[in-house]
Amino acid sequence: MQAPLIRLRGISREYPSGEGVLRVLKDIDLDIAQGEYVAVMGASGSGKSTLMNILGCLDRPTSGSYLLDGREVAQREPGELAALRRETFGFIFQRYHLLAEMTALGNVEVPAIYRGLPAEARRARARALLDRLGLGDRLGHRPGQLSGGQQQRVSIARALVNDARVILADEPTGALDSRSGDEVLAILERLNAEGRTVVIVTHDPKVAARARRVVEIADGRIIADRRSDAPAGAAALAAPEQPRAAAPVLGRLAEALRMAVLAMRAHKLRSFLTMLGIIIGIASVVSVVALGEGSRQRVLQNIAGLGTNTLQIYPGRDFGDMRSGRVTTLVTADGAALARQPYVASVSPTVGSSQTLRHGATEAGAQISGVGEQYFDVAGITLTQGRSFDAADVAAMSQNVVIDENTRTSLFGEGPALGQVFMAGKVPLRVIGVAEAQNRGPGGSTSLTVYAPYTTVQARYLGSTSVSGLTLRVADEVDMALAEQMVTDMLTQRHGSKDFFIVNNDQIRQTITSTTQTLTLLIAAIAVISLLVGGIGVMNIMLVSVTERIGEIGLRMAVGARRGDIRAQFLIEAVLVCVIGGAAGILAALGFGLAFERLSSNFTLVYSPLSMVAALASACGIGLIFGYLPAVNAAKLDPVAALAKG
Ligand code: ADP
Ligand code: MG
Repeated sequence: MQAPLIRLRGISREYPSGEGVLRVLKDIDLDIAQGEYVAVMGASGSGKSTLMNILGCLDRPTSGSYLLDGREVAQREPGELAALRRETFGFIFQRYHLLAEMTALGNVEVPAIYRGLPAEARRARARALLDRLGLGDRLGHRPGQLSGGQQQRVSIARALVNDARVILADEPTGALDSRSGDEVLAILERLNAEGRTVVIVTHDPKVAARARRVVEIADGRIIADRRSDAPAGAAALAAPEQPRAAAPVLGRLAEALRMAVLAMRAHKLRSFLTMLGIIIGIASVVSVVALGEGSRQRVLQNIAGLGTNTLQIYPGRDFGDMRSGRVTTLVTADGAALARQPYVASVSPTVGSSQTLRHGATEAGAQISGVGEQYFDVAGITLTQGRSFDAADVAAMSQNVVIDENTRTSLFGEGPALGQVFMAGKVPLRVIGVAEAQNRGPGGSTSLTVYAPYTTVQARYLGSTSVSGLTLRVADEVDMALAEQMVTDMLTQRHGSKDFFIVNNDQIRQTITSTTQTLTLLIAAIAVISLLVGGIGVMNIMLVSVTERIGEIGLRMAVGARRGDIRAQFLIEAVLVCVIGGAAGILAALGFGLAFERLSSNFTLVYSPLSMVAALASACGIGLIFGYLPAVNAAKLDPVAALAKG
């Protein structure tokens, strides 16, 4: 006689219990031949399910030998055991264990997905099986929309989709009314008649009576093994054809992605809340980076007009020196003395005064900027109408002035400006030129500026010869550092102490760049923290989700998912949540930028594609990092325990 399909020898299963162990199965010897129909009977708690789980390679015995097709099961790799569960055994459970989010068709397909069957082939197969079991018109129904008997037939179709040779049914009729139960039993008998081996656990003596062989278990031992008939055995099942997909790994990943989408759709609010941390993190990072870049470009643009060979000399020790307003030692004479030096091309003193402008009935506050005739060249300001005042104007303290575009529109509107006379404080001034408006600093675009000869401002408004600054252009071919040193030496000597400071445009540019770098670092730190918080949120929810879906995980393992399949599914879900959150965050940042620019013209947001790609990549990375632990936890689950808890 050929070796039986299943041969158990001295199988025991123990569970740790308190300080001792609980022996659930004790020295079981059992042979089951190909094509048999075996009913296992016994009181509740006698060890029937434990035996079935061992038979189906869901559980391992504590000791003893289990030969399947003459090969020791204990020596097989975990991957081989998953393949056995997938292709050799078909499990039918008392509580069906269907996946609630999937249709009847989808549920039947699950084991075929893990086998790597191409989508069309497995769909056709699943449809044919459901048709055969009388569910042809229920393919798109979810488990919740099916009766118990229909659900159990779906689970039978699932057990058959990979053409299992052995059907293990653990109380398949336990939750059904007697009619549905009879239908299920009839199906099982038909499957047995086809040559499949059927092992069924039942309480019902009537059910057992229809089996050809009844094995009775009490307290973990077989106490009876009766045959009512000769074993059928004859109609041996032809070895099932095992088509393989061309790229099973890719196919399974695609399925894992589809599952992740399904799971997210099933818990929309939760998925959104999980994403929220990532959305906020990514949105704030992208917009702050854009804001920083926008202001940096704006400032650099503004100083770009100034040549690289100018020095600005200001009273005081440094920017922000509170005394600088009271330091009056920097005077026009200093400028004149400097202008005589061979290394100086030109000097333009700057002084300032705030005055109210009046023209007809129009009044407006303005800054009177007292400058030299070369100021417009040195500062890179373009005139849009008329001309600038010249050296003679400066020498004569003339009242010829250049107004900026803002002043022109405020005072004269659309009317002509050149040649007009207006009052600035108590002094009448004549417009000889119009200059473009300068956009420096917040609000700079709307402030009014009038450029007058500095001599006029000193004499008419300030009554002193001190200046608020000197703008000095160094002669060509002269080294800037050297020029700065010479200016410093000369002024220090004239003043008796160094009560002024010098900046050059290079320094300003460097200061802005280093400030921007500091800011960028700060932003990066905030970004890392916020994304970390978001990532922890994702991990938290995913861990909860694994616990919540423990039954689903157990079922997937029972129908043949490898640990890698489970890990991939949860990892992909975490990455998907993060990537979608990241994309939403980028969109939010873009929308924020649009709104911001509409509300205020003082800020520009400059988005860099690089920062967006980096944001998406880091979202993906967060998913991988923070999804890893939950995914590993899910894959570590014991299928029997997971099924029991689910
Ligand atoms: P049956 O299916 O015959 O009702 P089971 O095989 O499910 O019985 O369980 C047999 C015994 O093993 C029971 O007493 C049960 O409490 C115990 N048992 C089952 N699973 C575990 C487990 N994971 N840990 C500890 N005891 C268990
Ligand atoms: Mg049981």
